Amino acid sequence: MVEPLPHVREIPPYVPGKPPVARAGLTTYKLSSNENPYPPLPSVRATAEQAVTAMNRYPDMGCSALYDALATKHGVGTDQLAAGTGSVALIYHLLSAYCGPGDEVVHAWRSFEAYPIAITAAGATGVKVPVTADGRHDLPAMAAATTERTKVVLLCTPNNPTGPALTHAETTAFIAGVPADVLVVVDEAYVEFVRMADPVDGLALLRDHPNVVLLRTFSKAYGLAGLRVGYAVAAPEVATALRAVALPFGVSSVAQAAAVASLAAEDELLARVDALVVERDRLVAGIAAVGWTVPEPQGNFVWFDLPQTDAFAAAAGEAGLAVRPFAGEGVRVSVGEPEATDRLVEVLRGMKRPT
Ligand SMILES: *Cc1c(COP(=O)(O)O)cnc(C)c1O
Repeated sequence: MVEPLPHVREIPPYVPGKPPVARAGLTTYKLSSNENPYPPLPSVRATAEQAVTAMNRYPDMGCSALYDALATKHGVGTDQLAAGTGSVALIYHLLSAYCGPGDEVVHAWRSFEAYPIAITAAGATGVKVPVTADGRHDLPAMAAATTERTKVVLLCTPNNPTGPALTHAETTAFIAGVPADVLVVVDEAYVEFVRMADPVDGLALLRDHPNVVLLRTFSKAYGLAGLRVGYAVAAPEVATALRAVALPFGVSSVAQAAAVASLAAEDELLARVDALVVERDRLVAGIAAVGWTVPEPQGNFVWFDLPQTDAFAAAAGEAGLAVRPFAGEGVRVSVGEPEATDRLVEVLRGMKRPT
């Protein structure tokens, strides 16, 4: 047999959030993938359906309508943008453009599970810096882990799956200490859900530091997870490199059209985000009321740091809730429908709290 390159065997599998198991007489809820529980907006859906009528044609490889809309939204040049099939794709593109064997990529852990997969697939070496007990990036430790071998540092804010977000002050201080020839990726997949003092202003970081790369996605706040579209905002030189290594015609015409329509309907979509933040607050209050604690959630999910992950997932499953256990480490639960919040709190009430 022809063998793949040695590092290919080392790529850890991606464990997707499971769909809920059907329960007789019970509506089930999928809280396992941080998806948006709202169905597509009629305007976005109509635009996507219109794009389907031209599915015999290749998409616009230049993503021009999308780049124009994003450039306006962010006040950047279109040459500072690079789109991909979800922001996960941009992580792959970035690592393939900048990293090879022997290069190190520093990131927090536990953090987004696609990081070790993408790093290993690029043939690079991941350096995992444990998050603090309250689920935050340990920035001093990450700075100490950044050496002459480091090519990329990945910051995930808010951090999936633990929840807390970085402040602008601590992020600025961190980046100031990183050599200019190391790329600092700020993965802002959940930025629209952040409600805190001194939130990260990614565009300001990028203005001051051309080695900063912002990653955004339409999968979470904008509810387009199934269409696969995300993007990077970066210095023109970096965006050019990201576009150069991207798969030709990666972002489908339907995805491009739906993303543009979503930006046009941003007010409606962000009102839904506001409602989800209210629901997150209600969930946090419910969790506290039954005597549990979670790290400060700034995304659309909460994190239960506990070893009894299977028991937790099973109890939630009995209540019709699909959650995302990380075996032996913790359980992530997405913020979804109000009924799902109520059920989760009831599940917690009935469970023995970890001591
Ligand atoms: C969901 C997520 C992404 C993006 O996912 P895509 O669907 O590929 O855009 C990126 N980073 C983090 C931390 C995420 O949780």
